[in-house]
Amino acid sequence: MTRKWTLAAAALIVLLAGCGKEGTPPPKGPQPSALPSYQVRDAAGITGSPTLDAARARGHLVVGAKEDQPYLGQKNPATGEYSGFDIEIAKMVGADLGFAPDRIEFRTIASANRETALQNGQVDYYVGTYTINDNRKKLVGFAGPYYLAGQSLLVRRNNDTIHGPEDLNGKKVCSAAGSTPYQRIQKQYPDVKLIGYDTYSACVDNLITGQVDAVTTDNTILMGYAAKVPDELKVVGPLFSQEPYGIGTPKDDTVLRYALDDALAHHEENGDWKRAYDATLGLSGVPAPTPPPIDRY
Ligand code: GLU
Repeated sequence: MTRKWTLAAAALIVLLAGCGKEGTPPPKGPQPSALPSYQVRDAAGITGSPTLDAARARGHLVVGAKEDQPYLGQKNPATGEYSGFDIEIAKMVGADLGFAPDRIEFRTIASANRETALQNGQVDYYVGTYTINDNRKKLVGFAGPYYLAGQSLLVRRNNDTIHGPEDLNGKKVCSAAGSTPYQRIQKQYPDVKLIGYDTYSACVDNLITGQVDAVTTDNTILMGYAAKVPDELKVVGPLFSQEPYGIGTPKDDTVLRYALDDALAHHEENGDWKRAYDATLGLSGVPAPTPPPIDRY
């Protein structure tokens, strides 16, 4: 094994495990002590939502999420527990629907499968870096937005040729199939050699081992990967899109969608949103912004 390959493999293991190699300090992660706890509300007054009725009958919520996005949605392989900013959003709004965090079952759903999962009733709602747009609104509903991200680029630390999307022509660039960043490169930068995987972590593995030249998606996601292995990776260039994050819902369940809008507004106002941000996504280095205005369409 070459030394370069060994280093890349070591970085990969650290990244995948989400914890430090023996003898090195673990990278910063959500600190349970800093996370807010959410007061569970009596939601008996919320009536007429088929999704909520089914969840009540079942006794728990089923929420779709990501499991490999540091600071946003990450599953601990040892305990099976999910953590991150999106997970906190899912928990805070769940509390307003009458469900304590221990009555939420998280289910990992990849970018390309979100609409189908919501349409088939596999999940009650979805919180996982899910951009609101008109195409998707034909298939699902969106509460929010609760955060505004933008598309950016992740490259190896020693790369000094890629500074923005204009530098990608002829380069191998990886993104998640079915994602808005993937679609944007496909449409607006046709000379890029675009590679689609199910997850961004698969793209990042390929970036570290040199199979691709860049990974593109939301800055939030990329900053999380870079923060885990800052000696290997860096985020470069300007944000070249707007990605407003929404909570995905079944399309016709407007009672659920408005209840989630109300819940977001409530937790933004009482400080939970900011506390949750500071304890999760804020750890990758950007101070809490003001959340974007909620669009109750
Ligand atoms: N926010 C973008 C999207 O919804 C990219 C992130 C993701 O794939 O979850 O497509």
